Amino acid sequence: KSPVPSDIDIAQAQTPKMISLLAGELNLLPEEVDLFGKLKAKVSLKVLERLGTQPDGKYVVVTGITPTPLGEGKSTTTIGLTQALGAHVGKNVFACVRQPSQGPTFGIKGGAAGGGYSQVIPMEEFNLHLTGDIHAITAANNLLAAQLDARMFHEATQTDEALYKRLVPSSKGKREFAKIQLRRLKKLGIEKLNPDELTEEEVKAFVRLDIDQETITWQRVMDTNDRFLRSITIGQGPQEKGKTRVCQFDITVASEIMAILALTTSLQDMRERLGNMVIASSKAGVPVTADDLGVSGALTVLMKDAIRPNLMQTLEGTPVFVHAGPFANIAHGNSSILADKIALKLVGKDGFVVTEAGFGADIGMEKFFNIKCRYSGLVPNAVVLVATIRALKMHGGGPTVVAGVPLPKAYTEENLELLEKGFSNLGKQIENANKFGVPVVVAVNGFATDTKSEKELVQRLARENGAFDAIICNHWAEGGKGATDLARAVDRACQETSNFKFLYDIELPIEDKIEIIAKEIYGADGIELSPEAKEQIARYKKQGFNDLPICMAKTHLSLSHDPTLKGRPTGFTLPIREARASIGAGFIYPLVGTMSTMPGLPTRPCFYDIDIDPDTEEIVGL
Ligand code: ADP
Repeated sequence: KSPVPSDIDIAQAQTPKMISLLAGELNLLPEEVDLFGKLKAKVSLKVLERLGTQPDGKYVVVTGITPTPLGEGKSTTTIGLTQALGAHVGKNVFACVRQPSQGPTFGIKGGAAGGGYSQVIPMEEFNLHLTGDIHAITAANNLLAAQLDARMFHEATQTDEALYKRLVPSSKGKREFAKIQLRRLKKLGIEKLNPDELTEEEVKAFVRLDIDQETITWQRVMDTNDRFLRSITIGQGPQEKGKTRVCQFDITVASEIMAILALTTSLQDMRERLGNMVIASSKAGVPVTADDLGVSGALTVLMKDAIRPNLMQTLEGTPVFVHAGPFANIAHGNSSILADKIALKLVGKDGFVVTEAGFGADIGMEKFFNIKCRYSGLVPNAVVLVATIRALKMHGGGPTVVAGVPLPKAYTEENLELLEKGFSNLGKQIENANKFGVPVVVAVNGFATDTKSEKELVQRLARENGAFDAIICNHWAEGGKGATDLARAVDRACQETSNFKFLYDIELPIEDKIEIIAKEIYGADGIELSPEAKEQIARYKKQGFNDLPICMAKTHLSLSHDPTLKGRPTGFTLPIREARASIGAGFIYPLVGTMSTMPGLPTRPCFYDIDIDPDTEEIVGL
């Protein structure tokens, strides 16, 4: 008997304003806005130059406790809080959110535009192609993959002389090629500053990249949950002369190029990061990059539009940037630095930018601070930590929550005992946020079945355990109006002086950085590195990649590595199975468990419900 209609019905009942009108309200200049139809636009990075000297607004990150598999409402709260600040409390505000992958949209989880009366609209545009950024990443990623295999093929089937002639067809070509060689020589410890200093012999000597096939880490990608591409054999055509190779497809949002889009700060910076992506090692152990394959310029060209944030709006007409959506485990799971930076300028000194960090606070928030803020240089003013009564009851020992199955009674009837026990998870996440020196406002995302005593209990416990404040919100059922108390609390928290600090020093050895995260954030006694991880870490250090932040690939369903351990687990050692690197994006990612980079489709995927009315062109079931 829910009085709240379905997400798509709510979204479609609201007529969005023309995006050109919204751009005008934001004082964007016409030349800074590229319209994509009537309801979406791309915003130029030139805004940053024009408003460069203007002070930034307040920077608020939304994160959550360890969730149930249903999600506890981070996106919904990000949008609800923005609607409250903008449409009810009279502040300039921007929400910055990730673009969802089509994998989960059609697979198990469904869309990610928020929910109820707190949504980004039009949600069908938001959840599907948007302005093609994910397609651009697919194209760029696969161009590099194609060149990798083609180059190995050409090296295997041609003499040095023939390779050189084809790679360096003219004297201008020689200069360009020599520039790439200079960068490669530098990796080998040979310093030459000018391409003209290279003799023809030296250029020729490095004509072969000599890629060690066993070390290839670059995969092809597509944005569909296609489990049959998890392991494939390529090169089976007769023209490839038996050069077959077993490899895999990943989902596009797991591409390092997506992580770069989210972390880059300019077109120039993006070109450098794309060029620095390490895709394999040579047989001599030298890292081979996209730059070595001559493709970084072309990749940047493919990504030139994707780098601009996409402007959309909430149900209540406040602005939203939708930009980038890196995987939250093997990448850092946060929307783009550029969207946040532009939004912070556009809202002005007294305005607010509300940005969302994926997964629970032990992952998304930790990476937001230690990776995203480190690269952006931005200083956050407040954390909003989303909690639900149902998830806290699960942490207190409630029965397992399964998506698509009605919730057991413990969750729909009052149970203060389970709730109080499960507070341990929220308590630990508050403690963690406080380690970064940023005030934490707990947002209790209210569900229809929560009782007054339950909500008040969480509020009291949070206030007693280090939260700046704890607020009960109803933005899912009521829109921005239901989050005005939260908006006011966030405003107060942002008036505190931020004592923001990173958790670890970037120059510490890789192992030490991992251990600090494991002990301080997860509550582990220590870490245990597998022999393979030790060897990989030693290699990264030797290759000069020690001084990078750490991007833990851990389950989001527990503070520990074991998804069945709820609450606040103690007495465990965090096993590190492997350590991999995204050098272009700029982080080392240790694997705690096995991480699937290509989800599969369930027996009955979400798309069973999706259709279009051929007369009205209205989409149903999304
Ligand atoms: P997260 O971003 O944390 O994964 P979402 O904001 O996407 O979570 O919410 C997950 C789902 O729960 C969405 O379908 C949303 O509509 C629903 N939801 C969120 N808050 C509430 C609420 N207070 N009452 C009922 N459903 C909610």
